[in-house]
This record gives sequence, C-alpha cells and structure tokens, in this order.
Amino acid sequence: MRPLPLPRRTARETYRSCVPGMRQPLRQQLEGLEEHVVAASARFETAAQAASLHSLDRISFTPASPDMAAALPDVYTQRMAKVGRPGRAIYDELKMAAVVCPLCGHREVTTLDHHLPKSMFPLLAVTPSNLVPCCSECNRTKRSTAPREAEEQTLHPYFDNIDDERWLAAEVLQGTPVALSFFVQPPQDWPNMLQVRVRHHFETLGLAGLYAAQAATELAGNAYVLQRTFDAGGAEAVREHLQLKAESWNQMWRNHWKVAAYRALAASDWFCTSGGMHQASWAAAPSTASQHI
Ligand SMILES: [Zn+2]
Repeated sequence: MRPLPLPRRTARETYRSCVPGMRQPLRQQLEGLEEHVVAASARFETAAQAASLHSLDRISFTPASPDMAAALPDVYTQRMAKVGRPGRAIYDELKMAAVVCPLCGHREVTTLDHHLPKSMFPLLAVTPSNLVPCCSECNRTKRSTAPREAEEQTLHPYFDNIDDERWLAAEVLQGTPVALSFFVQPPQDWPNMLQVRVRHHFETLGLAGLYAAQAATELAGNAYVLQRTFDAGGAEAVREHLQLKAESWNQMWRNHWKVAAYRALAASDWFCTSGGMHQASWAAAPSTASQHI
C-alpha cells in the first residue's frame, strides 16, 4: 500500500457541488442533509486516523428517511461519477492524485473506491477522504464490505502511512522454473495490530498472487541478460546485477514488489550460481546466448 496525501477538497464543498440542479423536492431534502454529511465525514476522519473504523455505528451514517438513505449513493453515481455532471471535476481531481493504484502498488488507477461502502455508509457517499483512487481489480476485490473488527481494516492510503520502513519481502522457490513467493515481513517494533492489518490488506487484495505472476514475467524477460552476465562474470556478477536492480527500484518505492524480488534473488546462492542459471526451462532462455546474437 502506497500512501497518498489527504485530498484538500472538503466534504461540504464536494456535496455542494453535486446537489444543485437536482429536481425538487429532492434537492431541498438533500440540502437539508448537508450538516449531517459534514458531521459524518468528520467522525469518519477521526476514526480513520485512530485506525478504529470498525467501531463506527452504521446507523449514525444513514439518514433516518429510507428515501434519503437510498438517494445519497445516487448523488455519487449520478452527480459525481458521471461524465459531464457537476461533481465530476472533483471526481477527476481525486482520481488523478495517483497513476499507480495505491492499494496494490502495481496496476493503473481507473476508478475511485469507497473505503467504507456507500451502500452501508450513505452519508459518506461523496466524502473525499472516503474516496480512494484505485484499479478496477482492487475495487472489485475489496467489494462492499466494512470492517467488523480492528484487524479487518484494510489500509487506507490517506491515513495509514506504513512506507517509512520495508515491510514486503520475498523468497526464492527453487525449482524449474524458478519462482518467487511474496509475504509481509513488517519491522518487529511495529504495533501488533498494524502488523495484522498489513497482512490482512495483503491477503484481502490477493497481492501474493499478483506479485508472483508479475515476477514470473520479469524473470523470463531478464533471462537473457542474466545468462550473459553469468557467462561474463560468474555468480558474483549476477548477484551485483540483481542488487543494482533492487536498489534502482528502491529509489522509487522501497516496498515495490521488484525490490523484494531482486533482493531475494540476490541473496540466493542457488539462483546466483548454477542452480538458478543453468536450468534453461526456468525462463525459456536460450541455452547459450551467443547462438541468438
Ligand atoms: Zn490495485
């Protein structure tokens, strides 16, 4: 999970940008909810900062009127997410805060995710701090669920900054083809609940599978250069090459899966020596590079 700065747009200005132009009496009824939206958003942000979103009472985030409870999610869908509608400019602004999805750290941002679902927390339907730019796959995988226990809270890019330290690691699975297994390895001095939440986030979004699949392609794409490096300088040259790759990605983001992958490969004597390099099938590499020049 990659942190993002908290949006500068407030819940009030976002709500006000969406409601005008709606038909009466719905518009007047929605305008009457503005203070409830603002108060609910403040409660949400306080709880998010304290990592206690599981303690929020859904009832207090739902208008008493069933009609209004049903209308608020539509304010997002019809007045904010739709192209050409008055709230769309803020939608685009929130979406453009990231190019790469902060939840998986890999795929492209294509949508906004309600961190707490609008169906269960209607008063947060257009609250900017509840809207996170993300990829379609993370949005689909996360689904409309809300945490019931503290450990069920997935990470929130605006409130959970866990990127000051390395928490993602990988290990080499010896075999043909070689593979990588990714896992969460947070610093031991982190609070236990944070460690549990990072693991929950990692598992909920299926990041081990995503990273392993990407790593397989990465290894295949690097087979040729690794073979040439080995032929020229042996295992130590391969290790140095892998360490440089890890450091290069580390400059961009220390918890990128490529950092974990290249660190694990560089640390593997098996991979750097003949065990990893001479199994031609591990990456469909040419048996000798010179034949293909
Ligand atoms: Zn994603």
